[in-house]
Amino acid sequence: MTAKMMGFVSTPQAMPDKRDAALRRRDFHEIHHRFSREGAAEQAGRCEQCGIPFCQIHCPLHNNIPDWLRMTAEDRLEEAYELASATNNMPEICGRICPQDRLCEGNCVIEKGFESVTIGAVEKHITDTAFERGWVKPPKPRRERPESIGVIGAGPAGLAVADQLRKRGYQIDVYDRYDRVGGLLIYGIPNFKLDKAVVERRADVLSAGGIRFHLECEVGTALPFEELRARHDALFIGTGVYRSRDIATPGVGLANIVQALDYLTASNRKGLRDAVPAFDSGALNAAGKRVVVVGGGDTAMDCVRTAVRQGAASVRCLYRRDRANMPGSMREVRHAEEEGVEFIWQAAPEAFLGDREVAGVRAVRMRLGAPDATGRQRPEPVPDSSFVVEADLVIKALGFDPEDLPMLFGQPDLQVTRWGTVRIDWRTMMTAMPGVFAGGDIVRGASLVVWGVRDGRDAAESMHAWLEARTPALALAS
Ligand SMILES: Cc1cc2nc3c(=O)[nH]c(=O)nc-3n(C[C@H](O)[C@H](O)[C@H](O)COP(=O)(O)OP(=O)(O)OC[C@H]3O[C@@H](n4cnc5c(N)ncnc54)[C@H](O)[C@@H]3O)c2cc1C
Ligand code: SF4
Repeated sequence: MTAKMMGFVSTPQAMPDKRDAALRRRDFHEIHHRFSREGAAEQAGRCEQCGIPFCQIHCPLHNNIPDWLRMTAEDRLEEAYELASATNNMPEICGRICPQDRLCEGNCVIEKGFESVTIGAVEKHITDTAFERGWVKPPKPRRERPESIGVIGAGPAGLAVADQLRKRGYQIDVYDRYDRVGGLLIYGIPNFKLDKAVVERRADVLSAGGIRFHLECEVGTALPFEELRARHDALFIGTGVYRSRDIATPGVGLANIVQALDYLTASNRKGLRDAVPAFDSGALNAAGKRVVVVGGGDTAMDCVRTAVRQGAASVRCLYRRDRANMPGSMREVRHAEEEGVEFIWQAAPEAFLGDREVAGVRAVRMRLGAPDATGRQRPEPVPDSSFVVEADLVIKALGFDPEDLPMLFGQPDLQVTRWGTVRIDWRTMMTAMPGVFAGGDIVRGASLVVWGVRDGRDAAESMHAWLEARTPALALAS
């Protein structure tokens, strides 16, 4: 079976079939069915194989997209997998949750007049097939090296470092304060975007390759940072950003106003069959409630869609800018609208109303005013435009800041930026502390999985170079 390339002229764009919104609302399963082999080949064959592949340029990992599309079109899936996994430590995850409309697919040149190739869905198809057929192998080095690497944080950035350096033979220990591997892939992102079994499958491959995970082990409290420095030849910090932003709006202290990550973590834990008292008590469960989510990013989209699935009476999203200026993926907004979420654009909370528990949000209409220093139009309130939205549960999805890592780790020499993110030399990914590297959200601020993977890969290269420079005898032998 060989599909011809350039198929975009005659073959329209098609994603794998999407489950009906009425069904989606009732469960947490992923929303797309899988591509059939023929469907994937046909869609991959729509690629124009253009001279300058802008999709590849705009993928943070510079994945060799045109080549693996061609191989998929030619039913050479094992080779396609080899190629896709050569630049990405978790293609099955990026294929599912990258905001492709802003990255690879958004820059596909056939988009002009025709619709882009469905790159993410093909990447997912290739790697899911590879797992099923046993082509995904644990990282196995050609020879073992004695040096030991400590990785703090088992999110995408930490896992990419661990995978890359294990392939080079280093002894890897990953420490995480959570009880499962994956960081926000497990406890932030809901199942309907990324099934937890997909994350666990990847973690199992890494464990089988000899990477040791030390879970429920918080560095800075249970395990002193100094001890880790003494234990390992080099360290990587990939701890993400977890301090939820808040708003200083009157009434914000009322009961039933909760933080997005608390809400999503409870839902994800419930899905993993953990005991979650705050869910069972109703505190972090939207069932039967009128829910208002404040915010317009991916976290807000995950909250509104989770609330729908929990059986909320109504779900509204308040965002201070308009649809065109929201940070979340347009695809996610469309999914949410199909599932019954109501967006109230250009509106911001003025006060939370209620006696002890929240009963409503008084919001004010916003308009976009003069651009700020970044060139983005600043939202400003429209005078006398207040209105009330009734609510039994308000979820604040206003973004995240880093924790105070120098204080948590007891390391004043660990330099941070004025936003609290860890300062690194971008050429080497090394922090101000020799042999201590960092990447992912703790360096960039809240970002994307694919950027975490990119940082992890860059840091791994740099850590290897640093260790080799330190141990010239071993370097000669390798
Ligand atoms: C709700 C939500 C939805 C998102 N949706 C998407 C999406 O659809 N697509 C996308 O690309 N991105 C999405 N993101 C962003 C993405 O999840 C992050 O950019 C990515 O996970 C960052 O990876 P990381 O490895 O830097 O950090 P994390 O994934 O946050 O992992 C950090 C790990 O470090 C551990 N840790 C922290 N402190 C310590 C300590 N002191 N000791 C030991 N361990 C510690 C944490 O427990 C965690 O496991 C979403 C984020 C959220 C919150
Ligand atoms: S990693 Fe993300 S941006 Fe890169 S090709 Fe895959 S889906 Fe597109």
